[in-house]
Amino acid sequence: MRVARGFLPALAFCAVVPSIGAAQPASGPVWLKGSLHTHTDRSDGDTAPEVVVRWYREHGYGFLAITDHDRITEPAPLAEAAGPDLLLVPAEEVTGLALPSDGRKVPVHVNAFVPREVIPPFKGGTPAEALAQNVARARAAGALVLVNHPNFGWALTADDLKAAAPGFRLLEIFSGHPLVHFLGGGGALSAEALWDALLTAGHRVHGAAVDDSHHFAGECTPARACPGRGWVVVRVAERTPAAVLAALERGDFYASNGVALRDVRATEASLELTIEPQKSFRYRTEFVGSGGRVLASIEGESASWRFRGDEGYVRARVTDSMGRRAWTQPVFVPDGGLGAEELRSRLSPHGTGAGLRPVSETDESR
Ligand SMILES: [Zn+2]
Ligand SMILES: [Zn+2]
Repeated sequence: MRVARGFLPALAFCAVVPSIGAAQPASGPVWLKGSLHTHTDRSDGDTAPEVVVRWYREHGYGFLAITDHDRITEPAPLAEAAGPDLLLVPAEEVTGLALPSDGRKVPVHVNAFVPREVIPPFKGGTPAEALAQNVARARAAGALVLVNHPNFGWALTADDLKAAAPGFRLLEIFSGHPLVHFLGGGGALSAEALWDALLTAGHRVHGAAVDDSHHFAGECTPARACPGRGWVVVRVAERTPAAVLAALERGDFYASNGVALRDVRATEASLELTIEPQKSFRYRTEFVGSGGRVLASIEGESASWRFRGDEGYVRARVTDSMGRRAWTQPVFVPDGGLGAEELRSRLSPHGTGAGLRPVSETDESR
């Protein structure tokens, strides 16, 4: 193996990492599964908020953001339905619309988490202008911003997203909604490839999997937007909406549509993960770098990538033997010239927490 010069001080830093772990609460951080995109009958969903909340509670979720269109469905009246184990994060789907000169009506939607007030959507202009305006409105309301379904209505290109990227932190890379074309097609990039385009350009954007659920009543057919198809799992030291928001902001979470991870660890030297195996499933982990390039493909229930210094960023995508996935957030890798301080500032504090096993020179599984 090869260690870039810049990582020598970083490796030395590993020696002090256990003290960071010791600073965590005795119980340590916990993983919370959550939904970032859910509708009720307060907008175009088919079911009352109380019933929606109970669905997520009864299916093991730790937090839920109800994202009705252009309104905030207040959590306080739903506290009883949520019970003690489901956190409710106030949110809104800001339902913008681009009106380009060719006469199209192009949906441009962003989810705003914990806005100070209801955000009126911007409608007009090109898709790039509509995205920038709606992101700016959500930011002005103090919200954390998720850009929704970039391929719904084939609305957003990589350039549109890059232009607005300083204002948003999250992008939908998987959705359970049947009409949002997250795999791309006809020359349009997949949502995951759009994410790679943003990361390659240096934008710190995290990938999210969502339900965009509308349909809780009746039969769940593939053509309906049912719950339970895409989610995120955040690592928090305490069960509060603020802690969930902070984990989403700093990228201490993974996205999933079926694969569960036991742990993800980003150290100064490597990105490692272990999978929570289910039944007879088998797993492949791909490490992805700049340009969406697959750096390595590893079979089994654990995988690690030791940084070389030329990857730009590294993220992991786990696929199981039925095609379901988990996606970790990227770690940006300095180009051999940055020291431990720079790299440390880019890593999640919990990523070096309890359970860290410093990677030795001989321990290489890729
Ligand atoms: Zn939408
Ligand atoms: Zn929606």
